[in-house]
Amino acid sequence: MQKACSHTIDLHSHTLYSDGSLTVDDLISHVVNHGVETLAITDHDSVGAHLEIKERALELPCNIIPGVEISCQFGNREIHIVGLQIDPANKVLTEFLQQQQSYRRQRLLEFAAKLEKAGVSGVGEKVETINAEAVTRTHLSQLLVEMGVAPDANRVFKRWIGRKGRAYVPARWPTLEKVVEVIGKAGGIAVVAHPGRYQLSRKQLKQLLEQFHLAGGRAVELAYPNADLTLIRWLAERSSQLGLLASQGADFHNPDWRWVKPGHFPTLPSTVQPVWEMW
Ligand code: AMP
Ligand code: MN
Ligand code: MN
Ligand code: MN
Repeated sequence: MQKACSHTIDLHSHTLYSDGSLTVDDLISHVVNHGVETLAITDHDSVGAHLEIKERALELPCNIIPGVEISCQFGNREIHIVGLQIDPANKVLTEFLQQQQSYRRQRLLEFAAKLEKAGVSGVGEKVETINAEAVTRTHLSQLLVEMGVAPDANRVFKRWIGRKGRAYVPARWPTLEKVVEVIGKAGGIAVVAHPGRYQLSRKQLKQLLEQFHLAGGRAVELAYPNADLTLIRWLAERSSQLGLLASQGADFHNPDWRWVKPGHFPTLPSTVQPVWEMW
C-alpha cells in the first residue's frame, strides 16, 4: 500500500443527505481545514446537498462539483457508480433518485423484518425515524449498535447486515447500463467508485471495466484510502487501454472514522489522465 498524500482535489464525499455525519456547511469547513480546494459531494442517491447550496455556490470557501453515488447491479454484486458534473435539477435524474430513495426505505424495512424473525425486534419503527433523504445500511448499522445488537458497525455488518450476515437482504439495484445512462442524461461523467472494494477477481474487474466502457462510462476511481497499489497499477493499465480517465476521492463520511481524511489517499499513477482535465 502506498502512503496517503494530501491532495487539493477530492471527488467523493457524503453529507447528512445520505450516510455522512455532517451537514453540507460543516463538511465544506471540514474539507477546507484539510486543504481541499475542489470537492465533489457525492451522496448516495441524493442531490439534496447541491439543491441546498445552488444559490450560494460562489460564496463557498471551496469549489463544489455536483455529484452523486448510485448503486447498481453487476452479476450478484453491488457496484457503486459516481456521477460527476451532473445537473442536480435534471428531471430524468431527480425522478430516478426518488425511486431509489423509496426503494432504499423499503429495503431497510425488509432488513427490519428479517431481524425481527431472528429475534431483534423494534428495528422497523426506528428505521421510520431516520432523517436522511437516502437511507443506507450505515444508518441501520448505527441503530443496531445503539440497540446493543453488536458492539460496533463492523461487527454489525459481519454478523447481520453484510453480504454474508444473518439478516442480509440482497439488493435489487438497477443495471450498470441504466445507471450510466441516467448520469449521462443529467450531463454527468460516470465513474466506477473504489474498484478494489467489491472483492472481484481480476477477470471480473476486467469484465466490469469493459461493460462499463461499452455502456458509456468514462472514468475509474484509482486513488482512495487503503487502495492496493498493485491492483491500482493493473487497473490503470486496463483503464488507459479502454480510454477511461482516472478519478480520486477519500469517500469521506464521518470525522470519527479517523482512518479517512478528506483529500488523503495515494497519488494517481502518472500514466493516467485525470478526469478533471475534462472540465
Ligand atoms: P447500502 O447502499 O444501503 O447497501 O449501504 C452501503 C453503505 O454501507 C456503504 O456505502 C458503506 O458506507 C457502508 N458499508 C458497507 N459495508 C460496510 C462494512 N463492512 N462496514 C462498515 N460500513 C459498510
Ligand atoms: Mn456510504
Ligand atoms: Mn461507495
Ligand atoms: Mn461513497
